[in-house]
Order: sequence, then structure tokens, then C-alpha cells
Amino acid sequence: MQKVVYMDYAATTYTKKEVLDEMIPYFSEHYGNPSSVYSISRDTRKVIDASRDKVAKAINAERNEIFFTGGGTEADNFAIKGFAFANFNKGNHIITSKIEHHAVLHSCAYLEKHGFEVTYLDVDQEGFINLEQLKSAIKDSTILVSIMFANNEIGTIQPIKEIGQICREKNVVFHTDAVQAVGHIPVDVKEMNIDMLSLAAHKFYGPKGVGALYIRKGIKIDNLIHGGAQERGKRAGTENIAGIVGLSKALEMAVNEMDKSSRRLIMLRDKLITGLMEIPHTKLNGPVSENRLPGNVNVCFRFIEGEGILLSLDDMNVCASSGSACTSGALDPSHVLLAIGLNHERAHGSLRLSIGDGNTEEEVDYLLSVVPKIINRLRNMSPLWHDFIKKGEI
Ligand SMILES: *Cc1c(COP(=O)(O)O)cnc(C)c1O
Repeated sequence: MQKVVYMDYAATTYTKKEVLDEMIPYFSEHYGNPSSVYSISRDTRKVIDASRDKVAKAINAERNEIFFTGGGTEADNFAIKGFAFANFNKGNHIITSKIEHHAVLHSCAYLEKHGFEVTYLDVDQEGFINLEQLKSAIKDSTILVSIMFANNEIGTIQPIKEIGQICREKNVVFHTDAVQAVGHIPVDVKEMNIDMLSLAAHKFYGPKGVGALYIRKGIKIDNLIHGGAQERGKRAGTENIAGIVGLSKALEMAVNEMDKSSRRLIMLRDKLITGLMEIPHTKLNGPVSENRLPGNVNVCFRFIEGEGILLSLDDMNVCASSGSACTSGALDPSHVLLAIGLNHERAHGSLRLSIGDGNTEEEVDYLLSVVPKIINRLRNMSPLWHDFIKKGEI
């Protein structure tokens, strides 16, 4: 098999052809600045409104509650820092979890240097927060709770509606990083009591560098970028029109195809999990229940390094991701895997395969034929494995 088998859809997706086709004219034919008065600008102004409507509809929000951003990280920064600074007079306490994306964790760490106090909630072995712990963590000075909708590494889908309910009862604003959820599982901001929500186009077959933040009407938030009147002054700068068009088209398609796509992904996911679990000393990371993202597989192979698995998979033309954060250059084990109770050895030996619409059952079969051989070979080279064989225990 020469073709690349891409199983890293949680990192990013390709842009679907139908999406790209809708974007192209906004680079050339329709180039008018939406803020200008002449007639060629009307097209671009109109398409932004129409795109905003589509995004609002997809999550059951109102048009004026959608703010386009430069991606998921930007939406998270906007929500957390913008809300914190605008509401400092009401309190300085924020609650989040230990398994958030770095866009949330590093925004919170920044706020800790600027007079805010942050509580990082623990999660259980499957990555779920404890609702009772959340309730008791809320105090008079709490202004914001930010808990991700679904985890990008282990696929855990949090009880978002219940979290939102608790926040409403306690009069605290609730933000959710829904970058992995939107376009993949049902999201309804009204029904789920969500006050702010981040999403990014390149996680649901749209273009990179464009996202959105939903901000419920009436919520006070600082401007993210100061300048012109774009995005009602909250995020100034001439709009990324082609990106916005691509985002809304991709989201519309993802919502329309959600049932069909997720049923297929769940079938492929479960086949992959079942097959991989036949390899000895292998454990599933993340939930066993239905509260797992349709495309997420994350397993830990003991006694070996995830980096080694990735390099061997790359030799076999498979793109995947490991339980180590390669972002820093140094190999830090993933904060998510540590938070669900894995030790450093097990976290390092983890592999994430995130599947998507481009994958086939043949590709799953291919994976199931190559991974056991790779694990075998790497274990034979691993001192940890030989120790284990000698002692029978570790
Ligand atoms: C990808 C991702 C982000 C970051 O989004 P970008 O568009 O890459 O900035 C944030 N949160 C989660 C959960 C993600 O998966």
C-alpha cells in the first residue's frame, strides 16, 4: 500500500471539495471589502451575514451571537481572557479542568499572572469531571467555568448540559471548547445551557485559520482585537471572507451528514479498538461508553515508546499521533494521559488514531495487520519488555 493512510483527523482534516469550490470565488471574483459602500462590496457583506446565519443555525444560536475568529485557539483566548478582564469587578475565580487544550490551559495560566485564581478540576480514569466537585469548587468569587465539550486526545464527551445547568443555578458563566465536538456530535447551545462556545473549521473539513466564538446575548466581554468595526468591534480587521464561507459550508455539510458519518465512524472505531486490544498488555485510554467521540481511538501499549510506534507507522505510510507532546521539542508525556492516571511509561507508550470521513474499512484492516508486528518488533528491542519477561511483573 503506497497511499498515505491518514488517521490524525483530530489534528486537522482536509478541506472537502464542495467547501473549497464555494470558497474560490471569494479570492478572485468577489473581492470587495465588506466595509466599503460600493455595490461589489454588497456581495461580500451579504455572504458574511448568510454564513453567520448558517453557523448560528448549526448550534441553535442567534446570528448576532456568532463572532468569527482566526481559529479555535483564538476563540478560546477571546472567551477566557476577554470575559475575565471584562468581569474582574465581579470576581477573580475561574474553574477549568486538567485535560483542557493548551489554548485554554495557557490562557488560564496567563490570567493567574494577572490577579486571577484558577481551579483545575481532576478527571476520573475515563476523563470525566465530577459534577459534585464542580459544584463545591464554585464560590462567591467564581465568574467563569470553562470545560471542554469533547477531549481531543481520549475522546471523552463531558456531561455538558448538566455542567451548564449547575453554572446557571450558581449564576456563573459557562464556556466550552467545542472544537472537537461541533460538526461531529449534536451541539445545541440553548438546550445545553452554554454561554460561550469555541469552534474551528479545520476540525470538520473546512479551512485552517478560521473559527468562531458563540457569545450568548447579554454577556459582557472585552474586545479581542482593537481597530475597525468588524465583528461589532470585538474582533477588528478585514474579514477572512473565503475562510468564513468555507467554515459555514463545511459546518452545514457536517451537520447534514452527521448521523450517517458518525454511524460509519463508530463502526470503524470499534473494529479498530477491538482488533488492537487483542495485542497483549494493551489498554484503552478514554471512555468505554457511548460518551466517546465517534472517530477517537487511543490505546496504550506497555513497555514501548509512542514515538517509536509513530516512526514505524510513518514507514508504513500511516499518519497518527502519540501520547507525548512533541510541541515542546522535549518529549513531555501528555497532560491528559497523566490526568487520567497513567504513569509516565504508559503515557509515553500511547497511540492516538483519529479516524474521519476519508478512512475506509480496508484501511482499518491494514492498520490491524501492521500494528501488531510493529509492537512486537519494538518490544523485542525494549529493555522494559525484557525485564518484564524475566520477572513476570513490573
Ligand atoms: C484543535 C483544537 C484547538 C485549537 O484550534 P486551532 O484552530 O488549531 O487553533 C482547540 N481545542 C481543541 C479541543 C482542539 O482540538
